[in-house]
Amino acid sequence: MQLRIDLHVHTVYSSDSLITPKELIFYGRQRGLDGVAVTDHDRFDGALKIAKETDFLIIPGIEISSLNGHIIGLNVNELVPPKLSVDETLDRIKDAGGISVACHPITFFKKSLKGHISPRFNAIEVINSSAFPFNYSVRHNEEIASQLGIARVAGSDAHYGPEIGYAHTLVDAESEVEEIVKAIRRGSCSPHGKAIPLTTRFKKQLLLLKRNFGRK
Ligand SMILES: [Zn+2]
Ligand SMILES: [Zn+2]
Repeated sequence: MQLRIDLHVHTVYSSDSLITPKELIFYGRQRGLDGVAVTDHDRFDGALKIAKETDFLIIPGIEISSLNGHIIGLNVNELVPPKLSVDETLDRIKDAGGISVACHPITFFKKSLKGHISPRFNAIEVINSSAFPFNYSVRHNEEIASQLGIARVAGSDAHYGPEIGYAHTLVDAESEVEEIVKAIRRGSCSPHGKAIPLTTRFKKQLLLLKRNFGRK
């Protein structure tokens, strides 16, 4: 079974995202996805809560701020703290029963891992729809993935509902979190997608400004 899954989405449990649980599921379905991974910054309580409350497929994840850049842990069963070295972070993800993804390895304006990617990672996010400059980052990530021989995945890194689904990973698995994670681990997956249009990103920035201003 080929599943279309956006493996990198932030919800309101991340302070820099506008996506409510309702919007997550609405856009996930509207974009024809079979599921999404919720990967909020340094917390996964939101992901677990959302997964419990819907029959839409949610892979609980976390985007961890390691000392050397962002790392995604998928299907972890306990919190992996921020500010650890890359190696320690990878150990903790493994101990928590999850798999690791080197997200947006090469991009500006995000905390990228750059030289810290190794075959210890389970997968590399070759396509990140929010990466800048987009084509350059995809080419570069492809090169790293083939050099290291690790699985290739994709995600939108959405922080605004309409950004969901600009990228997806095609995973050859049954529609179950454990099976999907296993399939990614063995590389039965491929990255697909494109950049989020600048107009959409611009709208998001305006809405974020408006929201943050309203909070003060
Ligand atoms: Zn990030
Ligand atoms: Zn992210």
